[in-house]
Amino acid sequence: MEIQNVGIIGCGQMGSGIAQLCAQSGYTVLVSENRQELLQKGMVTIKASLDKDIKKQKLPVQEKDDIFARIIGTTNIDDFRDCDLVIEAIVEKLVLKKRIFSRLDQICPPCTLLASNTSSFQVGEMATMTKRPDKVLGLHFFNPVPAMKLVEIIKTPATSETTLKIGKEFGESLGKTVVMVQDSPGFIVNRLMTPQILNAVRMVESGIATKEDIDTAISLGLNHPIGPIALADLIGLDTLLTIANNIHQKLKDKQYAAPEMLKILVANGHLGRKTGRGFYQYE
Ligand code: NAD
Repeated sequence: MEIQNVGIIGCGQMGSGIAQLCAQSGYTVLVSENRQELLQKGMVTIKASLDKDIKKQKLPVQEKDDIFARIIGTTNIDDFRDCDLVIEAIVEKLVLKKRIFSRLDQICPPCTLLASNTSSFQVGEMATMTKRPDKVLGLHFFNPVPAMKLVEIIKTPATSETTLKIGKEFGESLGKTVVMVQDSPGFIVNRLMTPQILNAVRMVESGIATKEDIDTAISLGLNHPIGPIALADLIGLDTLLTIANNIHQKLKDKQYAAPEMLKILVANGHLGRKTGRGFYQYE
């Protein structure tokens, strides 16, 4: 099966990045949001990201219009009926994700692959909402999608080898390196990264070091591009809190228990870069 038309549900931080990357890789892309103004916001994000690439001379200016022309926006999920692959990238809420999978299963032809970009839910739970669990997989991208080189492919007990092969080829066609992981809490990266971020927040809470010094220490001492507190703001504190809660609930391991400071920031709507304020303030 050849993938040509890619559908992406959700045009937030991740969905907009996945849409841009797919269009840059030559795919025809349909991307959705719930509301027209959110779709518009996502499209503006994609345009701004392409402009940034042009400015950095990573993208020839004449390619921008062709790339953008390959991305169509919609607020109607029924429009996904012609997609070969649909990637769900909505907010990290299982009940909503399950609803999307159930609806996609009704409207897409039986050959369409359905993928989730979830960070912390079992992909198998979404697959149970469909009559095609063999064609359901996780395609877990990293933020910012165009820049980050990795895609985790999540295999549920029902995912077929053919689906995994197509998923791998698709990830590679986007220029990514692909790793395979079982459908387990946090997969590889979030399982290992979440305790580090939460410990960094606990250190700020207890006054062991400032957030700036923790970020500097990890950047320079471990050669990470950004420190854990800045990374939390980049991921989105609401998303991080949900990831931590989900893994904690499944593994019952207290290193995944969310610190108060994180909960308070989220309760106050300070969600990181995407809202202009998290642990740090942004322009
Ligand atoms: P986000 O809040 O930036 O974007 C989510 C978008 O989904 C919002 O714009 C929202 O309006 C939209 N949405 C909600 N319900 C919808 C629906 N029914 N139809 C269409 N759009 C809908 O969140 P994000 O950071 O882009 O995360 C999206 C998914 O990707 C989550 O599952 C998250 O766990 C996962 N993820 C996030 C990161 C990260 O670093 N932020 C990394 C990997 C994976």
